[in-house]
Amino acid sequence: KAKILFDNLEHELKMLGLDDDIEVKFTGCHGFCQQGPTVIVMPAGTFYCNVQPEDADEIVKIDIKDGGKVERLLFIDPKTKERVLSYKDMKFFSPQRRIVLKNCGFINPEDIDDYIAVGGYQGIQKALGGSRMDVINEIKKSGLRGRGGGGFPTGMKWEFCHNSPGDQKYLICNADEGDPGAFMDRAVLEGDPHAVLEGMMIAAYAIGASKAYIYCRAEYPMAYERSMIAIDQATKRGFLGKKIFGSDMDFEIKLKLGAGAFVCGEETALMASIEGKRGMPMPRPPFPAVKGLFGKPTNINNVETFGNIATIMTKGGDWFASVGTEKSKGTKVFALAGKISYSGLVEIPMGTPLREIIDEIGGGIPNKRKFKAAQTGGPSGGCIPSEHFDIPMDYENLTQVGSIMGSGGLIVTDETTCMVDMAKFFLGFTQKESCGKCVPCRLGTKKMLEVLGDISKGKATMEDLEQLLELAQDVKGGSLCGLGQTAPNPVLSTVRYFRDEYEAHILRKE
Ligand code: SF4
Repeated sequence: KAKILFDNLEHELKMLGLDDDIEVKFTGCHGFCQQGPTVIVMPAGTFYCNVQPEDADEIVKIDIKDGGKVERLLFIDPKTKERVLSYKDMKFFSPQRRIVLKNCGFINPEDIDDYIAVGGYQGIQKALGGSRMDVINEIKKSGLRGRGGGGFPTGMKWEFCHNSPGDQKYLICNADEGDPGAFMDRAVLEGDPHAVLEGMMIAAYAIGASKAYIYCRAEYPMAYERSMIAIDQATKRGFLGKKIFGSDMDFEIKLKLGAGAFVCGEETALMASIEGKRGMPMPRPPFPAVKGLFGKPTNINNVETFGNIATIMTKGGDWFASVGTEKSKGTKVFALAGKISYSGLVEIPMGTPLREIIDEIGGGIPNKRKFKAAQTGGPSGGCIPSEHFDIPMDYENLTQVGSIMGSGGLIVTDETTCMVDMAKFFLGFTQKESCGKCVPCRLGTKKMLEVLGDISKGKATMEDLEQLLELAQDVKGGSLCGLGQTAPNPVLSTVRYFRDEYEAHILRKE
């Protein structure tokens, strides 16, 4: 539908003889996915949602031919019936602070000149003008923490790899985003792939790597294709390859397609997969910074982390650190999904209250229902119940209530959601994705799922519930990698806050 609309807009402009002056551009996702296709008329910023191909004629006439006198807007908030003229005034966008997503929806991701026109590739040139340690110190100053889920300080991670001796070092971009309901990394690679490449160039310079991989999941064909186009364009411009930007640095990036195993998001499993082996985690130490890909020092960050780097280099670590909270700096991209009026991608300063994300940006819970809980961190995370609705969303606060930031999935539930079913869904996912290497994860999650099934069918006893909790601790403590160590989290957090629902199932009171 978007392609036909695009063609129709071009046709209408041509009919009016305006096709030389006004360009119609395809962009990546603007975040308001649920309301697509969307059209933004620049520079006015008029935002049209749910546009049909036949609307092209009217958009051109109203916004362009008649001198921008907007009489009709396609965006009307279904709840408030509010009409807005510009995307900047929309409640979905106005509280957001966009660093990683700043170009998504505004530039053509398949055109390197579009990226350069908005200041692209200045960060790497600035980085190359200083020492490797200058770059690392700038990232440390920014306070940026890994956005893949762990939240480890990025500058410190780079420093470990920088300090590791080795003739060959590797850099990896983890684009194996596998959490159900999460699509942050996909949107960044589809909407602004050059920003990720530039972030990778800066990281490679800092640690001394000359070779890199983007490990992209097979379910993201457009992200893969646009990354490939971006690599090709950057290579042709001399931004990748030998002596990039006229410096002494050689740097190449290859794309590797993952096969859809969730466990390959784990660093050691991901590296095994790139090496052509079965993607199974390995015990640490040795850590990847010492002995990683092909036995060489390796640094791995995810797409969103790399998406922040070029802006930090151009605007400075202090600027980045001025956004967010004391220990969680910058912004976080969340994929809003579930029982919410507006699902989509949002980027907010760390510390923004959950209530603001759901009620303001997301437009609240539909059908006059009440908020029940939000699941963050996907199958590795936990739920945040209504008593914590005002929680500031940062690493520390989420951990305190028994959840995690994770990579940014945010699934909203309402009063009709059964929390036992939700825990069963997430545990069922991790159980299927267990690689089977260690017993607590392979068999423990299976047994947990059986007990959960019995509970939801009203066939379990209170002793079974206690056994489920004991087993959860055993799986957490005895599993080798993050998948098994965090698999019980949805069960533990739903029992913590909604034990009455478990008991109601057991006592058949539901
Ligand atoms: Fe595999 Fe699970 Fe063990 Fe991780 S914890 S290595 S996924 S069996």
